[in-house]
Amino acid sequence: MRPTRALIDTDALRRNLGCVRKATGGRRVIAIIKADGYGHGLCRVAHALEGADAFGVACLEEGSRLRAAGVEKQILLLEGFFSADELRDIAQLGLDLVLHNEEQLRQLLEASLDWPVTVWLKVDTGMHRLGFRPEQARGAWQRLVGSHNVAEPVRVLTHLACADDLTDYATSKQMARLRQAIAGVDAEVSAANSAAVLGWPETHGDWVRPGIMLYGVSPFPDGSGVEQGLSPVMTLRTSLLAVNRCRRGDAVGYGASFVCPEDMPVGVAAIGYGDGYSRHVPQGTPVLLNGRRVPLIGRVSMDMITLDLRTQPQAKPGDPVILWGPDLPVEEVARQVGTIAYELLCGVAQRVVREEVGSGQGLTGSGQEEKRAAGSG
Ligand SMILES: *Cc1c(COP(=O)(O)O)cnc(C)c1O
Repeated sequence: MRPTRALIDTDALRRNLGCVRKATGGRRVIAIIKADGYGHGLCRVAHALEGADAFGVACLEEGSRLRAAGVEKQILLLEGFFSADELRDIAQLGLDLVLHNEEQLRQLLEASLDWPVTVWLKVDTGMHRLGFRPEQARGAWQRLVGSHNVAEPVRVLTHLACADDLTDYATSKQMARLRQAIAGVDAEVSAANSAAVLGWPETHGDWVRPGIMLYGVSPFPDGSGVEQGLSPVMTLRTSLLAVNRCRRGDAVGYGASFVCPEDMPVGVAAIGYGDGYSRHVPQGTPVLLNGRRVPLIGRVSMDMITLDLRTQPQAKPGDPVILWGPDLPVEEVARQVGTIAYELLCGVAQRVVREEVGSGQGLTGSGQEEKRAAGSG
């Protein structure tokens, strides 16, 4: 079987939730697990993070997968609903709705529902993506509170645009706008993403919404999750498929972009952009072979990469290759590519088998199914 795997350490997930708790005291925690749990497996992550107070996903489809897997906690649909006919399912499944514009508000108030829906009113305090304008917030909140389609309590949520920059006043300005928008409104508030959990205590409010830090990854542009006391959850792993004794002047891979400067061993590992290991990963990017760094050479192909083995001439097919993990931060690879770790994690392709490691034996429902599908023993 092709050895390309994403190992998911469920104990690390739990430890990272502990870090959120430690940073935020008694605040309630909405664990953000959209985009298939940032590529780690939606239901697997939800089961591992049973200690969270609620979950956040993008849409109804993700929310219903969690309900089908037996998740009974509060689940927020962060993008709300896409058409009014989703409202009945949302109410029936008991999913929380993030409401972000006037049209949605009108549709919710006019819908005929069997159960009231729990609503989070999204206020745009400066991100200018989704949300009611601050001056509309109080009016919208009052209409929600008066509706038989809406369950009590109605809560308020905003999203921070620049929390990963600890010197940027934008975060304080956004929080000031939020306070002003809901002055006199007795509502629980949520604003903090991972960067704000770690760097902006004044944003913590009643509910925090960490995503990336739960996966052991730093939300900040520099450094790594490990430096923040977090435990990386995913190890992307494969093995060496071939070792070639190349001659000086031999060109390696598509476009002949690497030419051997001397006689040298070149390794071929079974991973490529078809697995989500980006084609933008440049030559020189480190991977771990037998636990030690070797540089990538040539271009990333769909199913393979090539490695400079001059520091490990004894390496042989079958030897383990790690693309990122606790000993090679995904943040470092992301910086090489000019992107953020979020994108690399979400981009790990479906064909990469997820294999659970750690003591996460207490799985039930589709967590087990994911595990079986992963073929782990
Ligand atoms: C994705 C998301 C988060 C989590 O952000 P991180 O940077 O991963 O912590 C929080 N809130 C909302 C609304 C989001 O969409």
